[in-house]
Amino acid sequence: MDKELPLFCYFQGKVMPLSEAKIGILTHAFSYGTGCFEGIRAYYNEEHGQLYMFRAREHFERLHNSAHILLMKLGPSPDDLVEATRDLLRRSGIYTDAYIRPMVYKSDEIIGVRLHNLHDDFYITVQPFGNYIDIDRALNVGVSSWKRVDDNMIPARAKVTGAYVNSAFAKTEAQLNGFDEALMLDANGHVSEGSAENLFMLRGGVAHTPPVTDNILEGITRTTIITLLRDELRIPVVERPIDRTEVYVADELILCGTGAQIAPVGSVDHRTIGKGGVGDVGRALQSLYFEVVRGNVAKYSRWCSPVHSEARRAAESQVAVAS
Ligand code: PMP
Repeated sequence: MDKELPLFCYFQGKVMPLSEAKIGILTHAFSYGTGCFEGIRAYYNEEHGQLYMFRAREHFERLHNSAHILLMKLGPSPDDLVEATRDLLRRSGIYTDAYIRPMVYKSDEIIGVRLHNLHDDFYITVQPFGNYIDIDRALNVGVSSWKRVDDNMIPARAKVTGAYVNSAFAKTEAQLNGFDEALMLDANGHVSEGSAENLFMLRGGVAHTPPVTDNILEGITRTTIITLLRDELRIPVVERPIDRTEVYVADELILCGTGAQIAPVGSVDHRTIGKGGVGDVGRALQSLYFEVVRGNVAKYSRWCSPVHSEARRAAESQVAVAS
């Protein structure tokens, strides 16, 4: 089975088995959260016999931006990083949906919190991966008592490892209180995002999403959805601040992200959204999104980078599944 394949990673300048990649316990990023990372998906298209990385270049561009904000130097260009990831997925023999985790981090094994005068290291891992949250039903969401980090605290725009403690507080509070996911407000009381998802609110035939100045991660899925809403579903999109109680009276609410994919919301703080359940736009977006990410829509094939040099023949895939 694919899950038992020996996985390879890129670590400290070379390719090695994932099981051999280790860091010391005094590593700066481990103590202080001084790392930045990405989460990228690759989707296997059974018919094409091909694995596609979705918008990998854009993810690596964002990684460069995060590193820049943290005063880190990431030598390889976004295109080099796409190439290195392709190589890992090939070597690991992955022919199923997969998750790619690159990270740049302060690697010195020292005591002392700062960003400057430190060394950076970099890794990429790949692994088979399915759904991160259940997207076949609408989610019940609760507004978190934890505020989203502000740009002048830990910039949400940079995907900083340490900032995920903020997300973890929110997610755990939501789940311990019986919700599936958290909705986070920023210090101004505007809705910013989920614990690891951007959001879209539908009201009166218009889709609204918080602007990039409202303490959100500038999500790759967010930009994908903006394009699909405007150009395919013909729904206007407005980027503007969103109030807490606006989402209570929304027709539909949709969370989106690389991990969550397209996750429609059925209730917020026990208020039913629209008719409850998965709404029409949520459903339409889900089916369109999965066609796009699996490389089935020619217009958007530029977003899908094929991994394997040759398509795997159907007979081979069947043998792999059966074994
Ligand atoms: N917000 C946060 C806080 C996230 O962690 C993520 C997941 N990376 C997102 C939004 C969605 O971003 P993307 O669509 O680029 O995965």
